Amino acid sequence: MNLYSTNNKNLRVSFKEAVFNSFPADKGLYMPVEIPQLPKDFITNIKNYSFREIALEVAQSLLGKDIPKKDLKEIINDAVNFDAPVVPLNDHLAVLELFHGPSLAFKDFGARFMSRAMAYLSDAQDKVLDILVATSGDTGGAVALGFLGVKGTRVTILYPKGKVSKIQEQQLTTNGQNIRAIEVDGTFDDCQALVKEAFNDPELNETLRLTSANSINISRLIPQTFYYFHAYAQAVKNEKTEIVFCVPSGNFGNIGAGLLAYKMGLPVKHFIAATNVNDTVPLFLKNGTYLPKPSVQTLSNAMDVGNPSNWVRIMDLFDLNIEEVRKTITAYSFTDQNTLEGIKELYRKYNYIACPHTSVAYLAAKEYNHPEDYTIFLSTAHPCKFIDVYPEDLKTQIAIPEQVQRLDDKKSHAHPIKNNFEEFKDFLLGS
Ligand SMILES: *Cc1c(COP(=O)(O)O)cnc(C)c1O
Repeated sequence: MNLYSTNNKNLRVSFKEAVFNSFPADKGLYMPVEIPQLPKDFITNIKNYSFREIALEVAQSLLGKDIPKKDLKEIINDAVNFDAPVVPLNDHLAVLELFHGPSLAFKDFGARFMSRAMAYLSDAQDKVLDILVATSGDTGGAVALGFLGVKGTRVTILYPKGKVSKIQEQQLTTNGQNIRAIEVDGTFDDCQALVKEAFNDPELNETLRLTSANSINISRLIPQTFYYFHAYAQAVKNEKTEIVFCVPSGNFGNIGAGLLAYKMGLPVKHFIAATNVNDTVPLFLKNGTYLPKPSVQTLSNAMDVGNPSNWVRIMDLFDLNIEEVRKTITAYSFTDQNTLEGIKELYRKYNYIACPHTSVAYLAAKEYNHPEDYTIFLSTAHPCKFIDVYPEDLKTQIAIPEQVQRLDDKKSHAHPIKNNFEEFKDFLLGS
């Protein structure tokens, strides 16, 4: 796979370069020069393929020139080690559950594949790869658990003291091995600023082999296409054909992957983008003006994004043509009050407990209201990660998965620092 920058279509970089340097220097985003088309008979027979077989076929069409099939197969079998089931709610509505991985959020797909791709693409003589991540919650857990035990890598996660949920903190701090957590006496923005400063520090860059696990990294996007194909396969098996995907969106990486799958030949009828009140994209599709704004805190906090970083990728997929985008994507936004009502309604009507992000997607699926279609809305996290959101009677109904039960027995190791770059730098150099 060769890639260009959305800011310079003449640029050419290899997959390897795009993996280790998430961003082109021109501040665009990497996009594949060619979007491969999957063989027709693969799509026709897809219902006979397992999730891993589907993932391998899709990965091969994208990365077949970069990674030999037998190695790709090993990476996939290791990365895709949990299912993404489509759970029907009724004849025209279903949930695609993406939260059965180690951190209980869909970001596990991206993080597990990225970690293995990075380890594979490193040369034997390379120094240990030092991955720095700032997190407000979900990304850090997925990255920590995605890289846990991956040879040749070491992860340092910065999180804001007192600002992540209990489960999220446990996921960041109980790993040991090659994962280190730093508790910063500051905000998420402070954490991000410290990481940014580290990448600009000559001494650190000379001493360490630094990289980021940024959510816009192409190796996080690719594995997210796999479950769209797998969900389609499950729907077809269930004799459904007019498939609509509804995606709860923040940075628009998840729906971006769905649209990439669509451009590779996945027969999807329509996409729905669901946001909370951080509604930059719904407003853009309505008014035609893209106006980024400061993010607003909501119950679906992993989608609190006022300037979605992957939106330029989506515009690029549609050659910057807003009319074409509108034909394929409809976007809706919802308030926190709507979100809570959605949670209650899902429970009342379908006996289903959804996380707040998933509830936003459910509401958008309902709003779109094309009963002749089969609408699959994506469930991006397990509800137990957001337990404080639920009314008491629902709280007690939420099953606690084994991944979380195990956390309580583990020791927490966080290294506390002030919001101070020298302290952070000493930590990085001193170990
Ligand atoms: C990150 C995240 C989202 C938003 O995904 P994007 O790819 O940023 O649009 C939605 N739900 C959950 C639970 C998340 O962690």
